Amino acid sequence: MRIQKNVFKRFLSKIEKNPPKKLDAITPLIEAEVWQETECLTCANCCKRMTPTFTPKDITRISAHLGMTRKAFKDKWLYQEKKTGDWMNVNNPCQFLNLEDNKCNIYEVRPVDCAGFPHLSKKKMVDYIHVHKQNIEYCPATFKMVEKMLLMVKGKKHYGEPTTLVVQDNEIRL
Ligand code: SF4
Ligand code: SF4
Repeated sequence: MRIQKNVFKRFLSKIEKNPPKKLDAITPLIEAEVWQETECLTCANCCKRMTPTFTPKDITRISAHLGMTRKAFKDKWLYQEKKTGDWMNVNNPCQFLNLEDNKCNIYEVRPVDCAGFPHLSKKKMVDYIHVHKQNIEYCPATFKMVEKMLLMVKGKKHYGEPTTLVVQDNEIRL
């Protein structure tokens, strides 16, 4: 898995510099396949090992839902990153994750970042590749997306076909 991740990261770097023409067209097809094969409730790595970014609107909505003031909510759960000014979780796993069933206790009002994660089909894939390179470490859905993307870009897989990929000697064998 470690070797595969490194190979996939190198592939992402390549397409970041030189994106194939069909990249943005095939991404939604790939995303649909990924979600047919991924069960987030058996994973929850994003809630356990990463933090979402809370926008001001998220903070207003979630604190109101919990019957707290914005300040009390921020004081209790969040810190502000100096470099970006973003509001992030202090706790990891997230305080709103139910560790027994991997469900989110504030699902209806969860941060927009959580609702969109792992942001597989951003309009311009190339602008988001740096994020996928980070997320591939923890997110099986991102891993699957990159695997499928690699095969499709190389013309070795078409929509709906099973994925078969062998990594040997730190290289991909198709
Ligand atoms: S890390 Fe990825 S696969 Fe796992 S729960 Fe989050 S979005 Fe789903
Ligand atoms: S708010 Fe909910 S979806 Fe977002 S990280 Fe926390 S538990 Fe996960």
